[in-house]
Amino acid sequence: MTYLFNRPETFVDEMIQGFAAAHRNHILPVDGGVIRRHKITTGQVVIIIGGGSGHYPAFGGLVGQGLAHGAAMGNVFASPSAQQICNVALAADAGGGIVFCYGNYAGDVLNFNQAQERLQVQGIDVRAVVVTDDIAAALPAERHLRRGIAGTLPVFKAAGAAADAGKSLDEVCRIAVEANVRVRTLGVAFSGCTLPGARQPLFDVAYGKMAVGMGIHGEPGLHQMDALDADGLAEMLVDKLLQDIPPVVGHSEGARVGVILNSLGSVAQEELFVVYRRVDQLFRERGLVIVEPVVDRVITSFDMAGISLTLFWLNDELEHYWLAPADTPAFRRGSVSGSLDNSEHIAAIPSAIAQQHVTAGSRDSQKAAAVILAALESAAHIVDAQRDALGRLDAVAGDGDHGIGMQRGLAAAVDAAGKARDAQAGAGTLLTVAGDAWAARAGGTSGALWGVMLCSLGHELGDVNTPDTAVVAAGVAAALREVMQRGNAQPGDKTLVDVLQPFSAALDQAVARDASIADAWKEAADIAHDAAQETRDLLPRIGRARPHAEKSIGIPDPGAVSLALIIGAVSEVICRHCV
Ligand code: ADP
Ligand code: MG
Repeated sequence: MTYLFNRPETFVDEMIQGFAAAHRNHILPVDGGVIRRHKITTGQVVIIIGGGSGHYPAFGGLVGQGLAHGAAMGNVFASPSAQQICNVALAADAGGGIVFCYGNYAGDVLNFNQAQERLQVQGIDVRAVVVTDDIAAALPAERHLRRGIAGTLPVFKAAGAAADAGKSLDEVCRIAVEANVRVRTLGVAFSGCTLPGARQPLFDVAYGKMAVGMGIHGEPGLHQMDALDADGLAEMLVDKLLQDIPPVVGHSEGARVGVILNSLGSVAQEELFVVYRRVDQLFRERGLVIVEPVVDRVITSFDMAGISLTLFWLNDELEHYWLAPADTPAFRRGSVSGSLDNSEHIAAIPSAIAQQHVTAGSRDSQKAAAVILAALESAAHIVDAQRDALGRLDAVAGDGDHGIGMQRGLAAAVDAAGKARDAQAGAGTLLTVAGDAWAARAGGTSGALWGVMLCSLGHELGDVNTPDTAVVAAGVAAALREVMQRGNAQPGDKTLVDVLQPFSAALDQAVARDASIADAWKEAADIAHDAAQETRDLLPRIGRARPHAEKSIGIPDPGAVSLALIIGAVSEVICRHCV
């Protein structure tokens, strides 16, 4: 249960304001997240971390000397947008290159990749190290598919300490990658988490049971079992983690291991200590050496009752960085020196993405822009009405935020499109501005992909001609290509691609028949509707839902359903305006 908030939609902004006020000595708020208050050495590498909010201390609480240089902070459980990430990265940049370090989630990968491309265009060398420590999320042979959970801390710490020691960009990346190769985590939960304003938890765990292999977004556990007592749980977690020792470590005898016992939210510190007591005994019994354990909250899932155990298999180099001093709002080790203030530098930073300048479109294109604005308003209307239903679909195997994310993205798109219309934008510009606003405000996987779709369509429509069926079909085809290229989903993977692809094919066929845009869109909308329903039978092979593939059989994909709903709503607007 979340007790204290004003309005759910302002929760994250108000949380960041309060966080920044409480930790003025450590951090400075910037557009999109926070950066270190302490001066960063000119020419050094900086580490930018980030992810959704709702995981405190991850991610903003881990910004400070010896750890991250900046954190992009998304909405609750939603990846920050590419624009937020760029803003934070530019604010922290010291001229020596940037390493993005984050947990492996589809939305984060999409948005960090986009941000990386944008910064590289500006001549900044940006690399990425994606953390994959959750052993429940995929088999060892598919480690690259695993999620990132509490194992993010050792990777962030190794990267941050190496960067502060003046290592080169190549070296910092090598060290961070090596840290990720050597870290493993497993979590369990006894109850779900309830987001601000929600009346029910994202999922339930029956009393006396526990869900093994929980994600940190309320992704349901891989299986449930009778809850164990503290010692039993310690034994289970240690046993399972010792079955997945990184191959580079070889045998465990005498190994030195950094250990993190993490509360996922509402498990008390005292309970953690009771569990840790047995973990410590087990390590001694097995001839393993624990190095500087962390028994605390490291990465949470709002108020979820659960814990995770992380083993960080050290070598000499990583042990040095694991022990190195750090001083952040939520993590302290040893003592750090130097405290020069960075705020003057901040005042001089331009925002990463300058406000788009709108040039007037032709009269014809302005008329089309007015229809597109009406279409976006109608889409917002249907998504408002279906928000909770979309959230429920997403909660089956994902994180339950699809309805909220779509609502937030569309509201921003309508707002930006309205302003563009007032500035006499043509159809192409109006769509691009709306797409950028959508992606920036919604974050998450679908936010990034919707931004890509609207922008691709906008580029094709341009600001001069009245869009006909052929141009619209070409725009939708471009949107499909871009979505598949950026998100890597293929038809059949149970994503919105399973609607976008048949929709695009139907528009292409209508062009061949010389159909009007109203007829073409209407027919294609029927096909999109059926295609969304047919995703019921598919197994998710990508995105958050993949580890819970079988749970979603019989349930359509939320992103596919919302896309078909929007196509249907737009169809009515086109029929009304384009006869
Ligand atoms: P998140 O997964 O970040 O929580 P949302 O819940 O808003 O984002 O959106 C989930 C939807 O995004 C899925 O139902 C699916 O349709 C779509 N999706 C996820 N990953 C991909 C991808 N790689 N390519 C295309 N669509 C995707
Ligand atoms: Mg989701």
